[in-house]
Amino acid sequence: MELTPTEVWSKVLAAARDRMPEQSFRTWLQGSEAVGFSSDELLVEAPSEFHAEWLEDKYGDDLSNILSRILDRPASVSFQSPPSGSISSVPQVELSSGPSTPAGGSDTTGAPAESSLPATGTRTPMYGSALNERYTFDRFVVGNNNQLAAAASRAVSEKPGRTYNPLFLYGGVGLGKTHLMHAVGHSILGRDPKRKVAYVTTESFMNDLVRAIQQGTTREFRQRYRKIDLLLVDDVHFLERKDSTQEEFFHTFNALYDASKQVVLTSDRPPKELPGVEDRLVSRFEWGLVADIKPPDYETRVAILQKKAADDGLSMDEEVMDFIARSCTASVRELEGAVIKLLAYSSLRKEEVTVDLARTALQGVLRDQDPSGPQRLSPELIRDRVAAEFGVKSEALASKRRTRKLTVPRQVAMFLIRELTDESLVRIGGAFGGRDHSTVIHSIRKVEDDMEADEAFARRVRSLQAQLQAP
Ligand code: ADP
Ligand code: MG
Repeated sequence: MELTPTEVWSKVLAAARDRMPEQSFRTWLQGSEAVGFSSDELLVEAPSEFHAEWLEDKYGDDLSNILSRILDRPASVSFQSPPSGSISSVPQVELSSGPSTPAGGSDTTGAPAESSLPATGTRTPMYGSALNERYTFDRFVVGNNNQLAAAASRAVSEKPGRTYNPLFLYGGVGLGKTHLMHAVGHSILGRDPKRKVAYVTTESFMNDLVRAIQQGTTREFRQRYRKIDLLLVDDVHFLERKDSTQEEFFHTFNALYDASKQVVLTSDRPPKELPGVEDRLVSRFEWGLVADIKPPDYETRVAILQKKAADDGLSMDEEVMDFIARSCTASVRELEGAVIKLLAYSSLRKEEVTVDLARTALQGVLRDQDPSGPQRLSPELIRDRVAAEFGVKSEALASKRRTRKLTVPRQVAMFLIRELTDESLVRIGGAFGGRDHSTVIHSIRKVEDDMEADEAFARRVRSLQAQLQAP
């Protein structure tokens, strides 16, 4: 009797589990799925490109041996990564195909748009790609850095087309724009699976359009896009100066907007700063709500690591998370990369995940962050770094405002300037909106006392200090 790929794979997994450390098993093998099985090869899809390569490299032979033994003939296991990073199930929007409906006015004719495509190679899906099943609201950690964007996305998913239209999310790389955008899609489909949701990158939108123009199928192109209930267009900063694309985008946008269909856009910068994008399109982008996402502050970074660990069943203790959160400050993607790297390292060296191991494993990552070498430490630079660490604006630390959110980082910044530079108390006060030297002394004492009393706080200050001093 023939076994299904899944049955074969679960036998292989059961045998492998006995032979490797539990943590490696969970890190590398859990979450892989058998997707194909021929007489001598089992094809397994790993959760990411990185997993696939790692598995092939480190475990390929062992797993193939196990498989051969189970089948009692020579066979091998090979790995692939998920198609373009996405997995799940957006219902395909119907293509405008076939004979026109009796309802008058429709003049759709001819073959389905699909059939006019070249039959070769991989092509951009006609309708945008699937949503990544991990990018849900559930898995999105809300922090100071993304609060507005997250709240707006929720609002849009509850009342699509009726609250903020379009919703324009912008921010740097790896900060969660695509995640939030997919979450809106999941949420809307969760409530009504019949909704037509399309996720497209700006690039695929453009390619699709160019192809339609070449093949004389722009009518079909329009009809397809204008039937959508929720259009998600990712990375509109790639919109090119090309008039035809912007023209088409503009009309698609208007058609959806007029029909109260929801549009969500992302970009690495606000609408006004998009180079080469026509004013009328910029103004459309600003019609609804424009929300930015900033790099996560320390608390949010820790919360994201905790959530990841819980969701993925990783064992990492608090100290390690604290270390990673302190070391990787630029983006969530960087945080995730550090975790993968650390786990890979631990499994390779067969060592427990500790702070020491993390320090070694992430050396390259940490060094990469500061290729410019040592910077001279000025009061302003220290103030900026402390502000970034606490997720507040550097200028706010120089203001007179006295909320707790500001006083703590303000005091820490003063303390560190005193520790790390030769600046006088008066100069330090000057960097904080002209506070007098007795205020500076008080602040420094306060930090010293708090560090005595609160270990976590002390660690945080010391680590900031170490980061500032790092070559
Ligand atoms: P962007 O589109 O802004 O470049 P992504 O949406 O691709 O960034 O996010 C990068 C990675 O970080 C993804 O794996 C995403 O799931 C994760 N991520 C980003 N922000 C968060 C968050 N607030 N909570 C949990 N995961 C996040
Ligand atoms: Mg993105």
